[in-house]
Amino acid sequence: MGTLEIHCHNCGGTYEVLPDCIVSADKLPEWLHPYRCPHCMAQVNSRTWDKLVTAFWTLWEVNKELQEWHTGYQDHPLLQAAYKSDGPIPHKDYNNDQV
Ligand SMILES: [Zn+2]
Repeated sequence: MGTLEIHCHNCGGTYEVLPDCIVSADKLPEWLHPYRCPHCMAQVNSRTWDKLVTAFWTLWEVNKELQEWHTGYQDHPLLQAAYKSDGPIPHKDYNNDQV
């Protein structure tokens, strides 16, 4: 099923979240915070966490369909997709923008 790997640029740590914990933040017990870095406690806000949950399960569904397509038609090769970040996405510096 796979895991969700999160790299924290605050402390440089990386951690994995198991599928059972990749659910909406409001469905998790208070003591379990997969949306917080276990090394430095940097936190993903709940709205962004929920988007991450949706993205993980969407990609999981895509891979499931790719596998079903492969097993249903023996001449189709098995393909598998994964997201790999190439680092932080450059963003606008809103504090210094001239309007
Ligand atoms: Zn951290």
